[in-house]
Amino acid sequence: MNISKNIIVGAGLTGTTLAYKIATELDEKVLVIDKRPHIAGNCYDEFDSEGLYLKKYGPHIFHTNDKKVWDFLSQFTNWHPFFLKTEAFIDGNLVNIPFNFDSIEKCFPKTLATRLEEKLLEKYEYNSRISISQLLEQDDKDLKFLANYIYENVFKNYTEKQWGIKAEKVDKSVLTRVPILISRDKRYFQDRYQAIPQYGYTAMIEKMLDHPNIELILNTKFDKKTHKAERLIFTGCIDEFFDYKYGKLPYRSLAFKFQKFDKEFCKDTSIVNYPNEYDFTRITEFKHFLDLKSEKTIIATEYPQHYEPGKNEPYYPIANKENHDLLAKYQTEAKNIDGLIIAGRLGEYKYYNIDAAVARALELFDKEVLNEFFKEKNNFGYSCR
Ligand SMILES: Cc1cc2nc3c(=O)[nH]c(=O)nc-3n(C[C@H](O)[C@H](O)[C@H](O)COP(=O)(O)OP(=O)(O)OC[C@H]3O[C@@H](n4cnc5c(N)ncnc54)[C@H](O)[C@@H]3O)c2cc1C
Repeated sequence: MNISKNIIVGAGLTGTTLAYKIATELDEKVLVIDKRPHIAGNCYDEFDSEGLYLKKYGPHIFHTNDKKVWDFLSQFTNWHPFFLKTEAFIDGNLVNIPFNFDSIEKCFPKTLATRLEEKLLEKYEYNSRISISQLLEQDDKDLKFLANYIYENVFKNYTEKQWGIKAEKVDKSVLTRVPILISRDKRYFQDRYQAIPQYGYTAMIEKMLDHPNIELILNTKFDKKTHKAERLIFTGCIDEFFDYKYGKLPYRSLAFKFQKFDKEFCKDTSIVNYPNEYDFTRITEFKHFLDLKSEKTIIATEYPQHYEPGKNEPYYPIANKENHDLLAKYQTEAKNIDGLIIAGRLGEYKYYNIDAAVARALELFDKEVLNEFFKEKNNFGYSCR
């Protein structure tokens, strides 16, 4: 039986970040396997035969305040500066999301809009970012009206479609993350670094894997019997790794309907949300991301779905106590296996943004991988799987 030094399951950003660090800093061989026919995990992007940009697993906008992550990824790509501006179709108007002063002026008559803006400026600093839960706590009847309007028209129905449950059942902490901008700032994110890799995420990740110590095998599902390694880093679903022995961790999934049109643009912005009408949640027009010029355009319409292993993709972990307890059982088991690291958004059953996934992989390299390396160097013993 051939035992590899390092096997990494999953060529998404978590797996490739760790592969690059092990290959370059430890100068060790790494075998990266992925069950899909391509690298880059969910960040995968491609250019079709007519040069149009598209993303099979939905839109990805890189945004971070973490300079370490920005600098790390900047070794592999130049960046196309991109600030996401999102609109939502509300009461027949396209309204900026997050809700800002422009949104207020689009949704309400002039006198009411002016009064709401004045009251917001009395309470909060100009250019600040508050949450809908802060606004819901206000005694002032106009501000309460505004909070309820945003809750009902922006948050409630979108959330019910997205998660397939009543909005009241969604963890209250989610409301603290629904922002309102006390300004005309149109950006969805306010992070210091916001961009898309100039030639796409796949090209960036291809560069990360381009190292003589790294071997890549695609179209290959991890198999415990054949894939033996001294150090195994698994970035697939943790419950799948243990053959679902304690039960399945649920996810929310998505279906994307892609359409190509013989016109330059369908939308003015890259993402439009439809909180209240239709069964879908949003439409993405990909060409906005890289500012590509073409007579044609591709859009994707996004339908939230229940996740069924083998049928669709596990996208969003569902955070609640029951699932947390189930996760803890798998994590305890994983800790008892020498040489095993289970990581990434599927391994840790945690929604990570791209920057957080990379930051976590860098942290794991320093904490787990380097530690073991030094243990091994000091002959503390390191058991083979
Ligand atoms: C719809 C959606 C939109 C998002 N948009 C953004 C955004 O705009 N900005 C942002 O910062 N973040 C966004 N994210 C988050 C981003 O996708 C993740 O941070 C990132 O993909 C995490 O990388 P990962 O390597 O941990 O996981 P993944 O990208 O999922 O990679 C895991 C890889 O492991 C492989 N794999 C799994 N099991 C096995 C197995 N048994 N055998 C072999 N291979 C296996 C999979 O095929 C996959 O390639 C979004 C996420 C979703 C779901």
